[in-house]
Amino acid sequence: MGSVTGFLNTDRQLPKTRGTKERITDYKELYVPHSEELTVKQASRCMDCGVPFCHNGCPLGNIIPDFNDAVYQEDWEKAADLLLETNNFPEFTGRICPAPCEGSCVLGINKPPVAIEHIEKSIIEKAFKKNYITPVEVKNRNNKKVAIIGSGPAGMAAGDQLNKAGYLVTIFERDPEPGGLLRFGIPDFKLEKWVVERRVELMKNEGVEFITNCNVGVDVSADKILTEYDALMLAGGATVPRDVPTTGRNLKGVHFAMEFLTQQNKRVSDIDFKEEELLATDKNVVVIGGGDTGSDCIGTSKRQGAKSVVQFELLMEPPKVRGNNNPWPEWPLIFRTSSSQEEGCDRKWSILTKAFIGNKKGEIEGIQTVDIEWKGRKFEEIPESEKVYPCDLALLAVGFLHPQKEGLLTQLNVELDDRGNVKADNFKTSREGVFTAGDMRRGQSLVVWAIHEGREAAREVDLFLSKNEGKLTSKTSSGYHL
Ligand SMILES: Cc1cc2nc3c(=O)[nH]c(=O)nc-3n(C[C@H](O)[C@H](O)[C@H](O)COP(=O)(O)OP(=O)(O)OC[C@H]3O[C@@H](n4cnc5c(N)ncnc54)[C@H](O)[C@@H]3O)c2cc1C
Ligand code: SF4
Repeated sequence: MGSVTGFLNTDRQLPKTRGTKERITDYKELYVPHSEELTVKQASRCMDCGVPFCHNGCPLGNIIPDFNDAVYQEDWEKAADLLLETNNFPEFTGRICPAPCEGSCVLGINKPPVAIEHIEKSIIEKAFKKNYITPVEVKNRNNKKVAIIGSGPAGMAAGDQLNKAGYLVTIFERDPEPGGLLRFGIPDFKLEKWVVERRVELMKNEGVEFITNCNVGVDVSADKILTEYDALMLAGGATVPRDVPTTGRNLKGVHFAMEFLTQQNKRVSDIDFKEEELLATDKNVVVIGGGDTGSDCIGTSKRQGAKSVVQFELLMEPPKVRGNNNPWPEWPLIFRTSSSQEEGCDRKWSILTKAFIGNKKGEIEGIQTVDIEWKGRKFEEIPESEKVYPCDLALLAVGFLHPQKEGLLTQLNVELDDRGNVKADNFKTSREGVFTAGDMRRGQSLVVWAIHEGREAAREVDLFLSKNEGKLTSKTSSGYHL
């Protein structure tokens, strides 16, 4: 383990973020560069627990105490090897994962947990900087071809695994650049796009083919792909947004969050878009939905120079500390402030949107709401609590329903589950040779789960194509690696 008394002598400390006033003037990441010394000290806090619950919290089964120890010993190459054994893309999770591992870290019982996510980011960035990570030549190609539809973290992880196991992998993507929501959903201030591009380049140099601007099911038929490849993996995400179908929904100025966020990511990267320009500049913005997507809309609105930003959340305000019904090592359901919320927004809890109010030109100018009171899993409207909030731009960030059915899924005619996601048994769909992973299978989730799903689904493809003699079989606590 690191230092025997590290957890007693050292407090949890994260790198500083740039001040809110400065950072809302650009789309660069929030963190200021930190010293290596800080990371080593933070790694010394790990207690190398007999039962490391952090493993349990991480969907990838990352070998956390071991890489913490390697960092404490300043053996960065070993730390990187350990990290990459279970996680194909620590540079993504090290930046934007909510870190369920930290939620279940044993130290978290009575002290702030080990700063695992920060340590992970430091390891992988150091590994790139020191050239520990260079394209690996894949030997023993087996000449079997796998097509993956969708280049988000699930498709990329599956592609990376299968390529390294010797398959010829092609990833089809309908967007102009690979990366899925990492590229055109999550804003640059959380994840700068050179981080995604660096990984895509590495995968290309290792032999993975990316075909962009190709909407499978529209530009090329799914059946054609099925005849040309030995297996097909569906990793198209859960892209159909949940609506707020109330009075005035069709007014000008009411938009889904993704219309707004995707456009800004393209703007930052100088990528053309054909849709009408959508900006928060000088507007009263109301973001409906209190999750990650809502936060991303806040940070983007602030950077575009919104006049005011209000965020509505239907649920009640969570407690500041864990409740008795939410004990460790469960994910702590506590009040949190995202970096975007920190930049300035008025948060409203237990509030229901009743109607979008428009002017004579059909443009939104306000939102009528009512306060609610939760009674168990149901809520009641509080009489005489109606209000009207001024609003020139309403952004709907209330989640995603399921994958898009038209095109790819309709053509393939794969079975769907009760929620409308692609139904799978061990990542195998109802059609022989067709697999699925990520949000397309489990519904909108997290990057870390998408990577986990991509890895697990790749293993199933490997077993299918190698007639059960697959290479992707060595097992960690919850994942499989080469
Ligand atoms: C705004 C926003 C912010 C988020 N922030 C976070 C965060 O901070 N941390 C976190 O862990 N998670 C976050 N998430 C969730 C996370 O991004 C997703 O869970 C994850 O990206 C899912 O990965 P995936 O590979 O399954 O799908 P996606 O990332 O959605 O990728 C699917 C890809 O498939 C492509 N595709 C679909 N159909 C076709 C087709 N027919 N032909 C070709 N290509 C196709 C799509 O264009 C897309 O690029 C966020 C989600 C959103 C929307
Ligand atoms: S649970 Fe926390 S303290 Fe224990 S091994 Fe994992 S990271 Fe270290």
